[in-house]
Amino acid sequence: MKPAAFDYHAPETADEAVHLLAELGDEAKFIAGGQSLMPLLVLRLAVFDHLVDLRRLTDLADITAGTDTVRIGATTTHTMVGRSETIARSVPLLARATPLIGHFQIRNRGTIGGSLAHADAAAEYPAVALTLDADIETRSPGGCARSPPPTSSRGCGRRRWNRTSW
Ligand SMILES: Cc1cc2nc3c(=O)[nH]c(=O)nc-3n(C[C@H](O)[C@H](O)[C@H](O)COP(=O)(O)OP(=O)(O)OC[C@H]3O[C@@H](n4cnc5c(N)ncnc54)[C@H](O)[C@@H]3O)c2cc1C
Repeated sequence: MKPAAFDYHAPETADEAVHLLAELGDEAKFIAGGQSLMPLLVLRLAVFDHLVDLRRLTDLADITAGTDTVRIGATTTHTMVGRSETIARSVPLLARATPLIGHFQIRNRGTIGGSLAHADAAAEYPAVALTLDADIETRSPGGCARSPPPTSSRGCGRRRWNRTSW
């Protein structure tokens, strides 16, 4: 199976990505690692005219430690989380959950932002984020906002973060 035709966009900064998505509207979708979205597209369970690829947003692929916080950028892959000494030291639950996600190819491509946005009730990161009462920072053309983690109560993939990056 192949996905329906779409226009591909590859912005280089988070600001560019959120403005692009806002401009393209409901027919557009972010794609990060593609590990959850691509299966939906190839089975044509989801169809979008535009895909906005987040993989070039290196400004969101980082892990930084503050005094009593750890900040993980949206495009940080599961592998990066699993290899991070900062995470192992400061967020051991996240470090222990990461190797349980799929297999290494999935972890090399999948991102923490994608996992939280997809909000599969069976997924590791949404459960860890809820358990640790993580703050989710979202970005839109209007600015940044903070919210609690997704609860999956509306079902997998129903979280509407289309206009945000995290
Ligand atoms: C074979 C297989 C096994 C797997 N096993 C597990 C497992 O055991 N445990 C587990 O937890 N997960 C598992 N996964 C899912 C995997 O962890 C995915 O990486 C993750 O669910 C989605 O991350 P992604 O970066 O691939 O997102 P994508 O697939 O690219 O996107 C998923 C959704 O998130 C949205 N999105 C992505 N990034 C952002 C962003 N920055 N801001 C707003 N919206 C965004 C997209 O628009 C889309 O709706 C598995 C996947 C596969 C294919």
